[in-house]
Amino acid sequence: MSDSEQNPATPSGGTESPAASVLDSETASDVATWFDNIPRALKLGVAFVIIAVLAIIFATWHDFYFHWFEVHTGTVNESGPYYGFWSGFGSDIGEATILAGLVTVYRHHNCHVKGCAHLGRRVDGTPYVACPKHHPDHKGGKRSISFEELKAAHRKAHEAQQ
Ligand SMILES: [Zn+2]
Repeated sequence: MSDSEQNPATPSGGTESPAASVLDSETASDVATWFDNIPRALKLGVAFVIIAVLAIIFATWHDFYFHWFEVHTGTVNESGPYYGFWSGFGSDIGEATILAGLVTVYRHHNCHVKGCAHLGRRVDGTPYVACPKHHPDHKGGKRSISFEELKAAHRKAHEAQQ
């Protein structure tokens, strides 16, 4: 913005403004005159392009660096089938957006029993969500029923259908 202080006249009339005439006497360089004659919109456009290119370069570098970090910490093996999404398209969204999205998804699916933080399923006939421990259709924890209980529940479901 120092350009406007040096050259209060219109940008196109660079050589006729008072500041430019002082410079023109002996020491004015051709580069300064050339720069003053560039329209301001073009300067802003070039500045915007430079910023955009730097942003793209930084984003690409960040993606590469973060992938390297994940590979070398072993995180990549635990990321599951959605790793490609989060690494590719997902990394273009801000990290804060991802975090807010995960919190929203979690709040839609966690158990409605007060103080319970487990993920759950819809309880039939109700607007509530319950985890395996609190779901009325479950007997105890998700991994704690016996094979006999599982077969009995399956048989019961078949009898209910007929
Ligand atoms: Zn629960």
